[in-house]
Amino acid sequence: MRSKHALIPVALLCFGVAGAQPRYDLLIAGGHVIDPKNGISAVRDVAIADGKIAAVAAHIDPAQARKTVNAAGLYVTPGLVDIHVHVYAGTGERGSYAGDNSLYPDGFTLRVGVTSVADAGCAGWRNFEDFKQRIIDRSKTRVLAFLNIVGNGMRGGRFENDLSDMDFGPAADMALRYKGLIVGIKTAHYAGPEWTPVEHAVEAGTKAGIPVMVDFGTDHPERPLYDLLTKKLRPGDIYTHCYSGLRHELVDGKVNPGMIDGRKRGVIFDVGHGGGSFAWRVAVPAIRQGFLPDSISTDLHVGSMNSGMKDMLNLMSKFLALGLSVDDVILRSTWNPAREIHHEELGNLSVGSPADVAVLRLETGHFGFTDMYGARMDGTRKLTCEMTVRDGKVVYDLNGISRPEWTTLPPDYTAVGDPAWDGLNPARGGRGAAGKK
Ligand SMILES: [Zn+2]
Repeated sequence: MRSKHALIPVALLCFGVAGAQPRYDLLIAGGHVIDPKNGISAVRDVAIADGKIAAVAAHIDPAQARKTVNAAGLYVTPGLVDIHVHVYAGTGERGSYAGDNSLYPDGFTLRVGVTSVADAGCAGWRNFEDFKQRIIDRSKTRVLAFLNIVGNGMRGGRFENDLSDMDFGPAADMALRYKGLIVGIKTAHYAGPEWTPVEHAVEAGTKAGIPVMVDFGTDHPERPLYDLLTKKLRPGDIYTHCYSGLRHELVDGKVNPGMIDGRKRGVIFDVGHGGGSFAWRVAVPAIRQGFLPDSISTDLHVGSMNSGMKDMLNLMSKFLALGLSVDDVILRSTWNPAREIHHEELGNLSVGSPADVAVLRLETGHFGFTDMYGARMDGTRKLTCEMTVRDGKVVYDLNGISRPEWTTLPPDYTAVGDPAWDGLNPARGGRGAAGKK
């Protein structure tokens, strides 16, 4: 239980504010704030209270805050939103995405500034509630989900190619039962020539009022990319793996006309880097021709994090190497993906939004970035994470910039009870401060 009264002595100790509670739990001061939704890219202070963004201004008095973090020289952005991950860990068939290839999210998200993820179809309607109970309800990361159109989810080819298990009715019902948590319908990895998986996913998405994300599976002349993007998908549906090159995203060195026409219709293009879905020889020409992604997503899984993708910030740094600005990259990893999954309270720093914040450092030097084929591109800029805040609590702090230096503290000091600190509150049952929501 969190007690406000227990905190008053701390406030008195730090600021000597007799009798007054500071207005803000946390002030992140002097950083370069990038908040694309609100058109901000400038040095600003960000104040947080009760887990929400309370103020963003050129100067906020530190005396009004229980704790102030100096973010000078750093970027302060909305918590990153990664809409393509695989986190249904500890279950499923050997080697499948729902199973051995999934990761528990908290070890791979908060440390790189990611506060919200959407699992891309590991679970279908038959096992979504198991996924929710095992992962969604137990994670510090905000975990949302695209529900696989396959009832059994991503349990391997035997399941994912079973056309008889792609009922849109039960999928739509489950999506409506967990509206807000299920943010879309996924179709993936289909190896046959039929349109059925896409058509049924769109049917379920229409019934539930949510977008469809497509991994277009094995290439087949019977179902060309052009038709998918100009006829089958609706505006707001998401084509992931857009720089893979595996389904003719480039034709004779030019961006597939279906991608251009699809974008005009409102189809969304997402990176979904993964282990085998991002090639320099596709991304470089596409971006030179002006075809930028709408959202940057990792396709996080055991294989991708240990090969070319690595993590969200490494992937974002690849787009810096491709010539995008820091502002361009932050837009595509915060506000754009939040809108794509209809969670407009996320991916921004508007007053009243959940206080999910990433404090990032832009390193300069010599860096190398590899793709799905093991080819390297060199770059000179790389984003790293100094601090991550989720719902107003510091959940990751690389160099302790939010912490008092130990020699300044009373001998019995403990951060237990600090409303802006989560570091003593491990996910399951540790010596916790505030208790988990
Ligand atoms: Zn994936």
